[in-house]
Amino acid sequence: MPAITVTGAREHNLREVDVAIPAGSLTVVTGVSGSGKSSLVFDTIAAESQRQLNQTHTAFVRNRLPGFGRPDVDAVENLPASVVVDQKPLGGNSRSTVGTITEIGSLMRLLWSRAGTPHIGESTAFSFNDPAGMCPRCQGLGTVKSIDLDQLVDRDRSLNEGAIRFPTFGVGGWTWRTFTGSKLFDNDVPLREFTDEQWRVFLYGADALVERPTDAAPVPKQYEGLLPRFERIWLPKDVESLKGNTREAYRRVVTQGTCPDCGGTRLSERARSVTVDGWTITDCAALEAERFAEVLRGLDTRAAEPVAAALAAQLDRLAGIGLGYLSMDRATTTLSGGESQRVKTVRHLGNTLTGLLYVFDEPSAGLHAQDVAQLTSMLLSLRDKGNTVLVVEHDQDVVAAADHVVDLGPGAGRDGGTVTYTGPPPARPRTGAIKRAPRTPRGVIEIRGAGRHNLRDIDVDVPTGVLTAVTGVAGSGKSTLVHGYLPDAVVIDQRAVRGSRRSSPITYTGVLDTLRAKFAAENGVGPGLFSPNAEGGCPECGGLGVIYTDLAFLDPMVSTCERCEGRRFTEEALRHTYRGVDIGTVFRMSAAEALEHFGDPRLARMVEVGLGYLPLGQPLTTLSGGERQRLKLAAELDKPGGVYVFDEPTTGLHPRDVDELVRLFDRLVDGGATVVVIEHDLDVVRRADHVIDLGPGPGRHGGRVLFTGPPAALAEADTPTGRHLRARSE
Ligand code: ADP
Ligand code: ADP
Ligand code: ZN
Ligand code: ZN
Repeated sequence: MPAITVTGAREHNLREVDVAIPAGSLTVVTGVSGSGKSSLVFDTIAAESQRQLNQTHTAFVRNRLPGFGRPDVDAVENLPASVVVDQKPLGGNSRSTVGTITEIGSLMRLLWSRAGTPHIGESTAFSFNDPAGMCPRCQGLGTVKSIDLDQLVDRDRSLNEGAIRFPTFGVGGWTWRTFTGSKLFDNDVPLREFTDEQWRVFLYGADALVERPTDAAPVPKQYEGLLPRFERIWLPKDVESLKGNTREAYRRVVTQGTCPDCGGTRLSERARSVTVDGWTITDCAALEAERFAEVLRGLDTRAAEPVAAALAAQLDRLAGIGLGYLSMDRATTTLSGGESQRVKTVRHLGNTLTGLLYVFDEPSAGLHAQDVAQLTSMLLSLRDKGNTVLVVEHDQDVVAAADHVVDLGPGAGRDGGTVTYTGPPPARPRTGAIKRAPRTPRGVIEIRGAGRHNLRDIDVDVPTGVLTAVTGVAGSGKSTLVHGYLPDAVVIDQRAVRGSRRSSPITYTGVLDTLRAKFAAENGVGPGLFSPNAEGGCPECGGLGVIYTDLAFLDPMVSTCERCEGRRFTEEALRHTYRGVDIGTVFRMSAAEALEHFGDPRLARMVEVGLGYLPLGQPLTTLSGGERQRLKLAAELDKPGGVYVFDEPTTGLHPRDVDELVRLFDRLVDGGATVVVIEHDLDVVRRADHVIDLGPGPGRHGGRVLFTGPPAALAEADTPTGRHLRARSE
């Protein structure tokens, strides 16, 4: 098979990159964060493959939208159809579970419908996403919402004083007038003084016609009580779709609890009563994959055989990539990025198609050194089926297993974008020395009797004023411990920054507010002229510089705005300058350039966390997980003495970036902070002051404290992390 050849790639920071990816091989692309790996692998190679595929069946798009998503590249040749397995969270929808998004859920339904006692026929009768199988009370969601009345109303206030505590019911508003205008209550007495009858009517409504306010004339309407009204209009809403105040109020007023009818299992009573060899489908959905496979192998039911065997094989695949601790009923919204990616991978492992291009984004994310061997053998087995496997990765074990390596660099952003090495994996760099002189803690945070998820009622002391690493295999309980029991900590994870298309580093850090005021003062005009969302923004693109065209079923198409030519602002706004530059130029400056030009502590912090190369106007939606995490850190860096929690901060980072990161932790700690990192990268672990090692295994095989102490002592300890640390370091 001929190699995939890329000629003249120019996406983002790529500088006319020419590269060949040998077909039928495992190729790993390395380079520091921001060097251009994703731009090459996802935005050029995978994007071109998908585009060519789209071209075969979306004539509509082709004819009407010339140049649809074509990557900026001269040519990509010999490109097979591609499958992208990335870390995007799995369908953020509450109906999706590990079972539903793998084949496993449908095989389970098949098994229980074929071999269950009693036999209930259709397999849809076991689906909580089908009316035939769902619990009628919760509609298959497993949870029900209810209204916390004490949060919704303040009984010490009258209606005129704003007794209803929800934004759209605010004093003076239309909804509020439907209550105050009803003439059913005294609007000036606190609710607590309502008679029982008034209170009942207020909450539940009355069979009375009342006048409802409208802009023209009042219309008589049936009076609707507060609770039915709230239930009808608000309860069905998805909290994530609400904005600002309303979202906060909703979180306060609406509580979500386990459905009392199905006990959270989402299924109808009938589906829950069918058993195979004594097991119900919901019992099995709650088992860890590994245990479920054991149960299936032990089944004493002839009728179950072929389906049970196929099911066990799928579960083995899940266990084979380190996910044997997940249960099928686990909501996909609770999985980490690394777990999501591995779950998606399972869908392809049973695949018999060959000749495909598989593209992975740092598949080692979240994996302990112990589990990386399983991962590499999975990548190699995909290759051995006759596929080309292309992986963005930093883990030295994965790099060492590759047939071919492409290194991009030498730096990030404008300092990167060139190929610095291609060839067989280079000699493995030695891991550095273990820290011999750990810092002395200032005190401890005591965690006692921690028992959430798989934790076994453990006691842990987290030292303050030092750098602590929490280690252990995936699923051992690290996140549960750290996120569940360190409540006042500033949590810096990769999801932390919620970005919309409108937000970018310059807005997120607040630097724009300052600069806007400076521009306004300098030019004697209003600051709105320098805001892309206000009068100064280009009216065509709303100050985005690009136009998004939403296409059904496809990612939206992005094109440069023709009116402002990508400059985001009106001619009028761009006419004004401050320190010799216009506001459009500021959006294109990197943080480091802007720091040199304007000097701002927030820009200095961006440079300090290694984001000096980032253009200030780059939409947050296009930042990598690592970039988002560091941006959030830059914004939170000014809390001396605080407790910072980092969740796998090395994801997306090259060993050189990891060095930078540890230096940053050291500066934070030397400045008085307590830093706790959940981490499997031994390069971080060896430089911590203190290690809390959990395990020994995942899920019910984990949840214990195996070791606490300095890394030098861990390297002597007989735990999975200790053994790897000993084997890897000098
Ligand atoms: P890596 O994958 O090596 O971390 P990327 O390919 O994501 O690097 O990024 C390379 C450079 O291109 C970075 O400076 C990054 O900020 C920039 N970049 C990435 N995506 C976009 C985008 N959609 N728009 C503008 N710049 C981008
Ligand atoms: P780690 O951080 O070490 O990978 P976790 O704390 O995420 O481990 O998981 C520990 C155990 O708790 C696993 O068995 C996992 O499946 C379970 N678990 C984690 N989060 C949830 C959740 N939101 N709901 C149910 N179980 C969970
Ligand atoms: Zn229910
Ligand atoms: Zn425009």
